[in-house]
Amino acid sequence: MEYPPFSDAFPLDITSADIQREKNRARELRRSAWWKRKRASGVCYYCQQQFPPAELTMDHLIPLVRGGKSTKGNLVAACKDCNSKKKYALPWEWEVEQAQPPS
Ligand SMILES: [Zn+2]
Repeated sequence: MEYPPFSDAFPLDITSADIQREKNRARELRRSAWWKRKRASGVCYYCQQQFPPAELTMDHLIPLVRGGKSTKGNLVAACKDCNSKKKYALPWEWEVEQAQPPS
């Protein structure tokens, strides 16, 4: 499935400086007790499976390129599998895609 460039789907004015700032913010949150606690639970937000904490990555529910921010409400723990499957899809687009039977 192909997604349109985010400028078409989301007419947001996002610059690379904005994205860089949010990435820095995410890096800081990754060191926080909040994130360590979240990751220690070992549960992937998407597939709800249990993983060793070291295998969970920080994922933006709404990707930065789509105007998402590095806030606690927009950050979830995801396993590497789910993270790579998701790419730049928004969560609801991704769920629709997942719900489709294999062709
Ligand atoms: Zn997962």
